[in-house]
Amino acid sequence: MNHQCPVCGYPKLAEPPRPKTGGGSYEICPSCGFQFGVSDDDQGFTYEAWRAKWRRAGMPWSSQQERPRGWDAAAQLATLSRAKE
Ligand SMILES: [Zn+2]
Repeated sequence: MNHQCPVCGYPKLAEPPRPKTGGGSYEICPSCGFQFGVSDDDQGFTYEAWRAKWRRAGMPWSSQQERPRGWDAAAQLATLSRAKE
């Protein structure tokens, strides 16, 4: 089961970012680099603040893992705003 990153819209997180059991998943989004439970709880970033920072940086692929073929940060981000409407 894949989960969507609430920061950048990346659709394939392995874990729910905020599990029902509390805290964060500690998974790092390979797209925007947000780590749930650390970037938010420990470092104090909101999703919006991290997203703004990532956009200002040019929406780079964050992970050492290979970037998916045809990855399109803007299109991915657009799926997130559609999901929220
Ligand atoms: Zn992300």
